[in-house]
Amino acid sequence: MNSARELASDVRDSRQTAVQVLEDFLRSIEDKEEEVHAFNVVDRENAVEAAAKIDEIVASGRDPGPLAGVPVALKDNLCTRNLATTCSSRILEGWKPPYDATVVERLRSAGAVIIGKTNLDEFAMGSSTEHSAFGPTRNPHDLTRVPGGSSGGSAAAVAAGFAPVALGSDTGGSIRQPAALCGVVGVKPTYGLVSRYGLVAFASSFDQIGPFANDVADAALVLETIGGHDPLDSTSIPLPSPSLSGGLSSGVEGLRVGLVSELLAGIDEDVVERVHQTADALRAGGATVDLVSVPAVEYGLTAYYLIAPAEASSNLARYDGVRYGLRAEGSEVADMNAATRREGFGDEVIARVMLGTFALSAGYYDAFYGKAQKVRTLTRRDFDSAYASHDILLSPTSPSVAFRFGERSDPMTMYRCDTCTVPSNLVGDPAISVPYGTGEGGMPVGVQVMAPQLGESEMFRVASFIESQAPKRDAV
Ligand code: GLN
Repeated sequence: MNSARELASDVRDSRQTAVQVLEDFLRSIEDKEEEVHAFNVVDRENAVEAAAKIDEIVASGRDPGPLAGVPVALKDNLCTRNLATTCSSRILEGWKPPYDATVVERLRSAGAVIIGKTNLDEFAMGSSTEHSAFGPTRNPHDLTRVPGGSSGGSAAAVAAGFAPVALGSDTGGSIRQPAALCGVVGVKPTYGLVSRYGLVAFASSFDQIGPFANDVADAALVLETIGGHDPLDSTSIPLPSPSLSGGLSSGVEGLRVGLVSELLAGIDEDVVERVHQTADALRAGGATVDLVSVPAVEYGLTAYYLIAPAEASSNLARYDGVRYGLRAEGSEVADMNAATRREGFGDEVIARVMLGTFALSAGYYDAFYGKAQKVRTLTRRDFDSAYASHDILLSPTSPSVAFRFGERSDPMTMYRCDTCTVPSNLVGDPAISVPYGTGEGGMPVGVQVMAPQLGESEMFRVASFIESQAPKRDAV
């Protein structure tokens, strides 16, 4: 399969038209989408029109941009002008955003073609895409298994060859975990590196947008395109987008890598084995790898599952039957609000809103929310001390390979999927999942490379080295 880089260079140099490139992907969607269900909508007509425009730009000798004619699939919680954005929830039924998210605008100006909107756990709450109101997405490597979540549709779209790259959002692992389970690359950038303007908010102090791709270099190219300051997001870091692509092949000689000991406990044996093999490959490349302790990560899940629902309970208050989408009948306004929310939200979303409201209530605030925020500070300190003696940290991305549908029906078992990914969200640091061989049932395994804030360039360099050493797998 051609990389996004190759496709863009083909289009720019007129070896292929953008319309031809798009049609190839539309054909594979036609072949396999029915069984995979990666998309909530494939925006065929607008995509063909956008691709034709790129071809006109090429024909007229102007610069079509670095992603010329590259089809991109977008998680369906990213606002797209005049195209339904559902968050895979009934409550947004019929709502069409009046504007494009900043990332969407940046992709379009770079010549990318938006091919469709991908399925997710409702409002990005989940780790399997089983909580979508529109039915689950299936893992292209084994249709009886989940693709991970919440950005399961985007991960599956790239793994199935429906799009060369995709965007997702990562609040507690929702890019990295599905990337690991589907055998693709997934990146959560430093908090504030990518604008959240136009991303439907789940937990605003964690949410970050990032790319999925078949290889590290494509992920770097997409992140370069969507990153950089945006005055429309007050938490956006006032820096230009980082340059990542140049340094990818510089190797890992002399690099100090720490293997986070707490994140090796409670992890399936097949996954741990792959992480140790990755460590050996890094050593062979000239890096030092030793165990490092980041004690507070043991409390990461607990803190995350208090703070994220607390923020969600506030963010989701806007879905009241007045401003967006669905409205259920009620004799009084308050009845209408309640009926709309009961009808429009799925069980997991309702559970999170209740949990969050509880954690913020008078009398419980200090005991739960306040304590969780302290864990957040402790986690920052523990990472800082690990980074005092290490450049990069390594761990599994997910405690297991992709599991089967219905296998994790109780919430606690599902929440444990996020053990290795939530720490980076709590502190705002970047992390990337890179495929490294397979585990149980021949399913893909992902290893996670973490870096300190704005350490993307080193993180990508290590990821690229790991990718070059990884056992090769057959395409789907
Ligand atoms: N699985 C986590 C949750 O359910 C993370 C979700 C996400 O990153 N959007 O909250």
